[in-house]
Amino acid sequence: MASDKKLYTIDDLVEKASSYITKEEELQKIRDVFDYCKSKHEGQFRQSGEPYYYHPLTTAIILTTVYADCDTICAGLLHDVIEDCGTTKQELEDLYGPTVANLVNGVTKISKIHFSTENEALIEYYKKIIVGMSEDVRVIIIKLADRLHNMRTLWAKTEDKQKKIARETLDILAPIAHHLGIHKIKSELEDLSLRYLKPNVFYDIADKLNNTKLERDKVVNDMITSVSNLLKENNIEHEIKGRSKSIYSIYKKLEKGRKFSDIYDLLALRILVDNVQQCYSIIGMIHAKYKPIPKRFKDYIAMPKVNGYQSLHTTVFGIDGYLFEIQIRTHEMDEVAENGVASHWAYKEHKDLTQTGTNSTEAKLQFFKSIVELNEDKMSSEEFVNSVKNEILNNNIYVFTPKGDIFELPKGSTPIDFAYFIHTRVGETMVGAIVNDSIVPLDYELQDNDIVKINTNKNSPGPSKEWLNIAKTTRAKNRIRTFFTKGEKERYIERGKAEIEKELRKKKLGFNEFFNEENTQEIFKQAKVSDMNDLYLNIGNGKFSGAYVVSLIYKKEESILDKVVFKEIPKHVEGDVIVEGIDKIKVNLANCCNPVPGDEIVGYITKGNGISVHRRCCHNLAFLDNRMVSVSWNPEKTTNKFITSVFIYCKEYDKSLLEIMQKASTSNINIDSMRTNRKLDEIIYDVDIWVRDLDHLNNFIRDLENISYIEKVVRIIK
Ligand code: MN
Repeated sequence: MASDKKLYTIDDLVEKASSYITKEEELQKIRDVFDYCKSKHEGQFRQSGEPYYYHPLTTAIILTTVYADCDTICAGLLHDVIEDCGTTKQELEDLYGPTVANLVNGVTKISKIHFSTENEALIEYYKKIIVGMSEDVRVIIIKLADRLHNMRTLWAKTEDKQKKIARETLDILAPIAHHLGIHKIKSELEDLSLRYLKPNVFYDIADKLNNTKLERDKVVNDMITSVSNLLKENNIEHEIKGRSKSIYSIYKKLEKGRKFSDIYDLLALRILVDNVQQCYSIIGMIHAKYKPIPKRFKDYIAMPKVNGYQSLHTTVFGIDGYLFEIQIRTHEMDEVAENGVASHWAYKEHKDLTQTGTNSTEAKLQFFKSIVELNEDKMSSEEFVNSVKNEILNNNIYVFTPKGDIFELPKGSTPIDFAYFIHTRVGETMVGAIVNDSIVPLDYELQDNDIVKINTNKNSPGPSKEWLNIAKTTRAKNRIRTFFTKGEKERYIERGKAEIEKELRKKKLGFNEFFNEENTQEIFKQAKVSDMNDLYLNIGNGKFSGAYVVSLIYKKEESILDKVVFKEIPKHVEGDVIVEGIDKIKVNLANCCNPVPGDEIVGYITKGNGISVHRRCCHNLAFLDNRMVSVSWNPEKTTNKFITSVFIYCKEYDKSLLEIMQKASTSNINIDSMRTNRKLDEIIYDVDIWVRDLDHLNNFIRDLENISYIEKVVRIIK
């Protein structure tokens, strides 16, 4: 842990900054700002007894450890002058430019909140931090550096204050540092917080670490020599660091019931090399020489963590049978691991931070996206802060899409939460979920590393009220609630907006760039709409498609497929199924037997989810009581396709899959998903397909059964 025995000077700051800031005028600006800061805080002292200017100076020095740019360092030096010295934002702007002034103002806004109750104030404070961060991440990085120095000098405060500040640091600021990937600051904040929150535990662990230090250092050094020799023999240039686990991370493991003596990854080292190729070669060499512990190998290079962290991890039996946790990564990955979001700015091309602003790096982090989106949902500050605290900052699981995209969700999330996390539209059209190849109920609790596929049907009537009891995240619940409070028109507008956005993404067009003044007028004229909402409405209710709108501007690239005609909206937009005696009711086609028009069907009144329509032969009906109603297919509805499932039994044959897909395509049948079950000398394809009606399906089945190697095709009921 760093201590501040020696008082830093401006020369220390400039020396550290000059290791990555090369422009002489920027270094001079830092000196000027420091002089200004010192004169402003003249005569002020901190509770620790130091002259006040020493606090902003140390804050700025901490900022250089994460390669903050010149403006951020200047703002770090000035971060308390508006609040404590009566300086105005305008004055700062005149002296040092708008960027510095805005950053200082941003930091000031966060701290300056007075509310009636402490709880309210706290909530408002958290919200400011969180929202401030999504506006310009540099504001929060200054706040983190400020807090870190305050934590280092926390001994000067009363015990009451110490505990309060430490709790807040551990609850909000350390997790934020973690999500920004700024490991250095996160880890020191955690250790310092623990020291004030649970001093006994903290010093107990620190003592134990101290007592075993000599022994551990020797083993680690021997292991470093041994690994280093191995790499030299293989001509790999490398750097190896012994690594000490933070006290807080040990505390977390003890809390989970592990004994100090069993914490087998106390001994740790890190190997740094030049390229990814070498990382993978080294893991092979290490595993060949030292026996690895099963299941402890993690490949965060191929599967980076959500905060951008990349590395290979393994635990092996090292020298004298001691267990070692070994991390292998490139120098660049190491930079990202230590400095997170900050390293992206400065490490590669010494990019000017002002250009980065809020758009590139941060936008890539799901973390920011989640916060920004959450902030757009209408909810109280308290709800907002609680959901950020509980659902974004803490206790998360990682799940994958079938394509391997990784998503971070709160523990306890269900497929419904996942669907809404991807997009509201996915949530609203969700009809089922498949986790690791098996169909799961919607209340299934997602587990770490699950691969989740959401089945959607664009004709789905929307979520059921029951989902409110199943969903875990505030985001999903809010959106489900909104769905029910919103009128049909608003829903269409939203749907239309989502569709055009999707279309523009597909064509790699920027929204603002596409809807510039000129294009917008042209579109309004041609599509005969009055404003954007009107445009969205017409896309949402199916009058024309997003692709059509794009084609109005990009006519040349328009393909035949994109040309969508104005289709007549039927006078009474009823569902696919008519329920006798009832006019407006939500109807779902049961996904156990997947009825299609032409099937004999029967309705079942569910609890709170409208009417579920089954095939008359569905075995699930046997368990249902007398809540049946009679239903029939709507003869006017002919355009939709319906999903249903078949098993295709084949003799082993190489090209069977390809031919089945071709057959489907020529029969105008869409395959939604297909699973292959290989038996001894037989393959069974479990296929979900979209068909118009029973005739369409039966013709397809007949066609397939005419193929020599296909034995039979059976519709299935799950
Ligand atoms: Mn401060």
